[in-house]
Amino acid sequence: MVRMAVMGASGRMGQMLVQLIDASDMAQLSAVVERAGHDWIGADLGVAMGGAARGLIVTDDWAEALEVSDAIIDFTSPGVSVALAQGAAAAGVVHVIGTTGFADADLDTIAQAGQTGRVVRAGNMSLGVNLLVTLTRQVAAALGAEFDIDIVEAHHRHKVDAPSGTALMLGEAAAEGRGVRLSDVADRGRDGITGARESGAIGFHAIRGGDYVGEHDVIFAGEGERIVLRHVASDRALFARGAVRAAIWAQGQGPGEYSMLDVLGLAQ
Ligand code: NAD
Repeated sequence: MVRMAVMGASGRMGQMLVQLIDASDMAQLSAVVERAGHDWIGADLGVAMGGAARGLIVTDDWAEALEVSDAIIDFTSPGVSVALAQGAAAAGVVHVIGTTGFADADLDTIAQAGQTGRVVRAGNMSLGVNLLVTLTRQVAAALGAEFDIDIVEAHHRHKVDAPSGTALMLGEAAAEGRGVRLSDVADRGRDGITGARESGAIGFHAIRGGDYVGEHDVIFAGEGERIVLRHVASDRALFARGAVRAAIWAQGQGPGEYSMLDVLGLAQ
C-alpha cells in the first residue's frame, strides 16, 4: 500500500482525492493538510467531511505529513506547491503536482526539486487530455503554418488562472509540432483593433462560468476546411484518479520531474 497525503484536503480536488484514496486497494490515506487558519485544522477528517470520526486529524504542517507518507498529492496554488516541492524532495517523498498557474521562475524551482526528488507535474491528469496533447503535436506537425491554431477552453466560475494549465500544455504541443517556441507565437485573448491574424500565431481564449469541469478545443483552421480536436471532462474524479495513479507509478522511479505522458507511457 502506498501511503498518500493530500494537500488542500477541503478543496474541490482535495475532497475527491480523499474519496478515491479511500476506495483504492493500492493506496492508503496517511495525512491531510489544509492552510493555516482553515476551519478544518485540528478537526477529525471524517467529521469535517460530514461523516463519522475516523481518527485522522487535519493538520497545517506539511512537514509532519511528509514524515508518514510515500507520496503527497497537491492541487493547491503555485506558491504552496513550489515550497512543498523542495520539502518533499528533501524528505524523499513523491510529489504529485496538479496545481496550475505557475510562473517560469516557479517551474525552474520545481525542476530543481526534480534533480534529487521525484516530481510528477501535469496541468491535466486525465488520459484523454494527454492523448489529445500527443494528437495535437502530430496534427500541428502534419499541417504546417497555413492552418491557424486557436485553443478555446471553458472552466467553472471559480477558476483563478487563464489560460488553463491544459490549454498551455496543448499550446506547447502545437508549438513543438511546428518546431517553434510557444512564448514566441502565443496570442492571448484578442481584443480591440488587433489587425489581421499573424501567420503562425497560436491563440488562446478562456470561457469562465457555471460548473464546467473543463473543456478544450484545439482548432486548426485552413482554407476551406477546419479540424477540431476536443476533450470534454464531465467529472473531476478523472483528474484525481490520474494523480493517484501517478503517485503509485512514481514509487518505482529514480529522481526526476515527470509528466502524465511518462506515467501513461505516451512520452516520445
Ligand atoms: P480549490 O480552491 O477548491 O482547492 C484548493 C485547496 O488548497 C483549498 O482547500 C485551500 O484551502 C488549500 N490550500 C491553500 N493553501 C494551502 C496550504 N498552504 N496548505 C494546504 N492546503 C492549502 O481548488 P481546486 O479546484 O481543487 O484546484 C486546485 C488547483 O488544481 C488549481 O490550480 C487548479 O487549476 C488545479 N487543477 C488541476 C487539475 C489537473 O488535472 N492537473 C484538475 C483540476 C484542478
